[in-house]
Amino acid sequence: MALIVAKFGGTSVADIERIERAADKVAREVKAGNQVAVVVSAMSGVTNQLVGYCQDMSKMHDLREYDVVVSSGEQVTAGLMAMALQKKGVSARSWMGWQVPFKTNDIHGKARIQDIDTTELKARMVENEVAVIPGFQGVTDRNRISTLGRGGSDTSAVALAAALEADRCDIYTDVDGVYTTDPRIVPSARKIKRIAYEEMLELASLGTKVLQTRSVEISMKKNVPLQVLSSFEDHIGSDLPGTLVINEEDMMEQELVTGIAYSRDEAKITILNVPDVPGIAAKIFKPLAGANVNVDMIVQNISTDGKTTDMTFTVPHGELQRAIEVVEANEDLKGAEIKTAENVAKVSVVGIGMRSHAGVANTMFETLADKGVNIQVISTSEIKVSVLIEEDYTELAVRSLHAAYGLEGDAP
Ligand code: ASP
Ligand code: MG
Repeated sequence: MALIVAKFGGTSVADIERIERAADKVAREVKAGNQVAVVVSAMSGVTNQLVGYCQDMSKMHDLREYDVVVSSGEQVTAGLMAMALQKKGVSARSWMGWQVPFKTNDIHGKARIQDIDTTELKARMVENEVAVIPGFQGVTDRNRISTLGRGGSDTSAVALAAALEADRCDIYTDVDGVYTTDPRIVPSARKIKRIAYEEMLELASLGTKVLQTRSVEISMKKNVPLQVLSSFEDHIGSDLPGTLVINEEDMMEQELVTGIAYSRDEAKITILNVPDVPGIAAKIFKPLAGANVNVDMIVQNISTDGKTTDMTFTVPHGELQRAIEVVEANEDLKGAEIKTAENVAKVSVVGIGMRSHAGVANTMFETLADKGVNIQVISTSEIKVSVLIEEDYTELAVRSLHAAYGLEGDAP
């Protein structure tokens, strides 16, 4: 017997038929003797519609009321999921976020979970009642409804799994796992069977939008094994059909490179004629941080004349304008010249095996050189090497790197 939290995303509960299919999966777990708590998203498209209503009502709406409106999508699916289970002869009961409760702070619109009281849920789960819980919802100290930010249902599920000390949190979605790279670019990309939390975090924050980053952080901290799997496949006869996200220590083998990620949401800013004096980096980046600009890659050239240098960095597209304004207004950069480029993309290779093996970066540089792809900026961490290249070469780069690291073919 295991205690499992099963989370179904928006596409997995998009209509009545799909909710029934999801309920079938839950029923199967129950019949296998497991205790199950279900966390559901809103039907796909519903949250967007609700957010749209709020914006149409008022651009400057009260976020406490925004939470009341947008949390309603999950309430609907929770009730329907409980009905679907009951129809299949499975004892089930829905619980809104405030009923459990999922206590959060009072940052409305993107609240953080502080505590989940699972006493009642646990008592009922022991009696084989499936608890059905809307993701995304919480309640503040002041007894107001809160929501966790877009994509927050993953976080609800993982936090609940941690609070219940579940054996596993299954995230059912419209893909059947995490892939070595985007299968739309490389059709031979393969499903990863096991991946470490840290690798998943790098891939998630690099734009592989399978799991909300925050949910991976929580599962890593609380050591909750996560499984990403498809709600559209039958999986009969296989124990762990999806991708298992686990602790590095629990990995049997460490791949040198686990996956290739890319992001087109990059813009590059170069500041020329920056005075080459101690403290200048802080003077450039502090106001940017203050303006909530997310600076990612940074390079500073050596100064040829000993007086001035160039500084290049990247930001998401949506923050480029704000970044330019901040740099232009910077008193310490008088006389500097700003250049920007939006036709850039970041390609990264990720793998915990890099910690113990040299040469990963070199393979990357040689592979790109062979294809005539120019590298504009490089950044590295312990388990990742990223390069900034011209956006038009993204697919070529991803494809050739995927082949160069031998990620094609059957899973080991
Ligand atoms: N329904 C919410 C959203 O779309 C939360 C979720 O599904 O994760 O952001
Ligand atoms: Mg989601």
